[in-house]
Amino acid sequence: MIVPGPILLLGAPGVGKGTQAKELVQHWGIPQISTGDLLRANVAQGTPLGKTAKEIMHRGELVPDSLVNEMVAVRLQQPDTVKGYILDGFPRTLAQAHWLDGRLAMQTEALPLVAVSIQVDYNQLLRRITGRRNCPVCQTIYNVYSKPPQRAGFCDVEGAALTQRSDDTEKAFAERMRAYAAQTAPVIEHYRELGRFIEVPGDGQIAAIAAGIVAAVERLRK
Ligand code: AMP
Repeated sequence: MIVPGPILLLGAPGVGKGTQAKELVQHWGIPQISTGDLLRANVAQGTPLGKTAKEIMHRGELVPDSLVNEMVAVRLQQPDTVKGYILDGFPRTLAQAHWLDGRLAMQTEALPLVAVSIQVDYNQLLRRITGRRNCPVCQTIYNVYSKPPQRAGFCDVEGAALTQRSDDTEKAFAERMRAYAAQTAPVIEHYRELGRFIEVPGDGQIAAIAAGIVAAVERLRK
């Protein structure tokens, strides 16, 4: 098996970055680093970072670059990142991308990153986001439209009452899409121009999309 190195998953809210990251974790045995998950953990623990991020995230805006970069820097020091990692939801601004590029350029032994852009149309994203529900116990993700639980509102595995992320409302989704178009779409163009760039449609079967990503990364890494 190849050494995958750093993989970036890029795309609008709801394209399935988290879902695909989990498939790739299974395949390569490298960690998923989701800045959204790390920030939500900080909010849940009430850390100083979490206190700053909470309202910003609730509104669907982006947390300041310096705070997110620092959080990622700390995570990348963990030894489990040596063979590679899947960055899910980072970088989301050009400043974050330049920071990451500079950091990788200094690590002469690190493989150059591969950027994967996942694409899904707007109306489908709206359904995915506003229909998304999570089990607070086992983290299984449901969707009231496309993957409803057997008993409405409750997890099939745990029986726990499902929750909805506070930024998965229609209002916060609109703001997240605005932030995406203004700040994250240029990041995709940046990596397209640098090469080692893969574009995949995000509206097929989960396993088939993941297999496409794996094959494309392995071609690039050969
Ligand atoms: P996600 O779970 O990736 O949809 O992220 C949820 C929220 O966390 C976003 O709407 C932002 O408020 C914040 N966030 C996550 N990643 C970043 C990032 N790389 N830069 C700034 N804010 C972020």
